[in-house]
Amino acid sequence: MTRILLLGASGSIGSQTIDVINKNPQDFTLVGFSVGYRTRCIRSILLKHKEVKIVYLRDKTKVKYYSSRYPQVTFTSEGLDELVNKVDCDMVVNALVGYSGLHPSITALNANKKLALANKESLVVGGELINGLLKEGHGKLYPIDSEHSALWKCLKVDDKNVNKLMLTASGGAFRNLKREELVNVKAKDALNHPTWKMGAKITIDCATMVNKCFEIIEAGYLYNYSPSKIGVMLHDESYLHSYVIYNNGLMRGEISKPDMRNPIKFALYEGNIPFATQTFNSLDELKGLHFHECSLERYPVIALAKKVLTKKGNLGAILNMANEVAVDAYLRDQISFLDIEKTIDYCMKKVKYIASPSLKELDDSTFKAMNSAREYIYFLKEGNRR
Ligand code: NAD
Ligand code: MG
Repeated sequence: MTRILLLGASGSIGSQTIDVINKNPQDFTLVGFSVGYRTRCIRSILLKHKEVKIVYLRDKTKVKYYSSRYPQVTFTSEGLDELVNKVDCDMVVNALVGYSGLHPSITALNANKKLALANKESLVVGGELINGLLKEGHGKLYPIDSEHSALWKCLKVDDKNVNKLMLTASGGAFRNLKREELVNVKAKDALNHPTWKMGAKITIDCATMVNKCFEIIEAGYLYNYSPSKIGVMLHDESYLHSYVIYNNGLMRGEISKPDMRNPIKFALYEGNIPFATQTFNSLDELKGLHFHECSLERYPVIALAKKVLTKKGNLGAILNMANEVAVDAYLRDQISFLDIEKTIDYCMKKVKYIASPSLKELDDSTFKAMNSAREYIYFLKEGNRR
């Protein structure tokens, strides 16, 4: 029986994690969870999961209300790190979005917990620190991202003579538009993802391809491959979740209907359940599935992954927070779609590079990137007003 603490229970990955736990009560017990501002899910989760002892609420004004409704449960808004340290659990599922996930990931590993990680930003920002902890024997890490789950399965079958790891990408909501047609595209259109139903931030990240840039970095840290050994292939249907190309030209991938409950389940079971991968000699063999080369002119942001994975240091922290602030502004219709990339470029140049940052220095770089991004967006908004 694995006792689970779920961070981000109210989100897209969070609610699908609850589905997986509900379907496998013989193997998993939910012992605690956190929600942000969407507290509506609390009632239904508590109704089903009587072992939950503690719930984190981001909104502290609601702690009193929920404490009186459910006296057997402790409600707190103290902090996610405190929650991770306090709850007696075997596994932490991190389904938080953005930078907010970094500290809980590190705290979980420091406490020698198993970490099922959807929050890829943890690795983008703190990949070196996280790998350092794992190397020292602190905790275990299981990825939830569908591409990385597929690669995990393929490498489990055969990790010898690997030529390249290939991440597939849907291309997001604007994949049929040329770059020059991206000038006036609006957030409400970007939120219309062609193949996956996800939270707002990652849906915008898919449209800009920052998500794929993050995933290259994520794969680099998870599987220890250099950026030249990680490629991207555009794929319309999101059925081939990613694949490995071996030196003899053979390819191995995972093909299934897009459903995040599969990678979530695989991570919760620590990879110890049956799975299937498929081999092929060419993508042309996969009838009914469509692929296109990923052009760096169309998606220049992909090149940033190579820079971050090569120079490491605080570059991931700067990239991540510049993007987070820009996506937030784009969602509020304050800046244009292509301004997201411009904000990232500005911050990557503005914030000073640190080669081997501590966690505190990653926090500082994040804070500086936040201020630089806000300053740049203010300048953009002023420009638009004139
Ligand atoms: P979401 O927006 O639907 O949910 C995010 C959750 O985090 C919510 O519960 C929210 O309340 C909580 N949260 C956000 N900021 C917080 C803060 N400061 N303090 C406390 N709680 C906070 O996002 P999602 O789509 O579920 O994505 C979660 C993570 O999983 C992201 O890192 C995303 O990139 C990754 N991911 C998502 C999918 C998907 O299909 N949704 C697929 C692969 C990876
Ligand atoms: Mg993914």
